Amino acid sequence: MTRARSSAAFARAKQLIPGGVNSPARAFGGVGGEPIFFERGEGAYLYDLDGNRYIDYIGSWGPLILGHRHPAVVAAIETALHKGTTYGAPTEAESELAELIIEAVPSIERVRLVSSGTEATMSAIRLARGYTGRDVIVKFAGNYHGHVDSLLVSAGSSAATLGVPNSPGVTAGTTKDTLSLAYNDVAALWQAFAEHGARIAGVIFEPVVGNMGLVIPSPEFLSALRELTVKHGALLICDEVMSGFRVAYGGAQSLLGIKPDITTLGKIVGGGLPVGAYGGRAEILDNVLPAGKVFQAGTLSGNPLATAAGIATLKVLRDENPYPKLERLGARLEAGLREAAKAAGVESCTARVGSMLTLFFQSGPVVDWNSAAKSRTDRFAKYFWNLIDRGIYMPCSQYEALFVSAAHTEADIDATIAAAHEACCNLPA
Ligand SMILES: *Cc1c(COP(=O)(O)O)cnc(C)c1O
Repeated sequence: MTRARSSAAFARAKQLIPGGVNSPARAFGGVGGEPIFFERGEGAYLYDLDGNRYIDYIGSWGPLILGHRHPAVVAAIETALHKGTTYGAPTEAESELAELIIEAVPSIERVRLVSSGTEATMSAIRLARGYTGRDVIVKFAGNYHGHVDSLLVSAGSSAATLGVPNSPGVTAGTTKDTLSLAYNDVAALWQAFAEHGARIAGVIFEPVVGNMGLVIPSPEFLSALRELTVKHGALLICDEVMSGFRVAYGGAQSLLGIKPDITTLGKIVGGGLPVGAYGGRAEILDNVLPAGKVFQAGTLSGNPLATAAGIATLKVLRDENPYPKLERLGARLEAGLREAAKAAGVESCTARVGSMLTLFFQSGPVVDWNSAAKSRTDRFAKYFWNLIDRGIYMPCSQYEALFVSAAHTEADIDATIAAAHEACCNLPA
């Protein structure tokens, strides 16, 4: 398999773009080597510049739950395109997408559309602070909420991969009102509220963590989150940018029985185009300008092409309900990947919720960032490249979840498992 054209494209990009990429998760920093440049996607497959085909388990890091170029999504974008690309004025499509979100997620009564997940979380914490009149935000190590200054403390995802938990350029002043705790640590949460309860505006968390590899919250942790925030008058902000419409149509909160005050969305809600959203109880959301005084704006917010793609995607998810299929394929892949590692005598454990899955190169259990960080990333790197050479495109970091899409077939899953058996054979001792 040659990747000469990718290599040339990367050499050029490096001269023009920092590190040759427009987002660090793409740079293969956690596995070494050069990123692959793509020409097109089709269903469950990606095609690189050299014409190699890969089974895609990234789906643009989550948005493409229907696979690449789903006909309904393409048609919706084309229809919108013929009318105009942006007006900077309201359209009915924005209400249609808002209505779909509100119907899907019971804790959301009002929702504001933005253009990325980062914007959604940034706006959500501003709203929590504006609403409560308090400053402190609690977050959890290894949870990623986008590149918001005050949330770049012990951030997961590419920040974790690169070992840069706190970015240069983020001032101590910005992060002094951020408390970072260990995920699933109920005692630490109690202690934080005992010490700082009256100053805490909100707690932001990933209800199913995808950004330190897949990590599942304990029921005790979830009930402590709700109980303590209510008791101390803080808001619970559920960051469902990744899990929303992914682990269930109503998001992780519907699966786990959580009722947050504010929910952030992104990725799937834009159907592969840039959309983010934050929503919650009307009484809270009506504090956002111009209904209220908390400032938040966006030139391209509610963009017609992006809302069209989002609406089309949500309607397919609602009407065709691919979630049982995603569960079946996810379970098959999980069992197969684990068996492949076991057959080769390689220590591993898996975590999965529906179509989100991580194979950790360690015995586990993985419950927080410290336990996730015990993984054998050297083994992961070799495994990753072994799979690439066999036409399987997995996330390029141990600390990212993989995504199965509705476009994958059982044959794709089985081909992936067969490749994984070979990929486990020559890992570092
Ligand atoms: C991807 C992600 C974000 C950031 O979204 P962007 O669109 O990349 O800004 C925020 N929170 C979570 C949980 C994410 O997975």
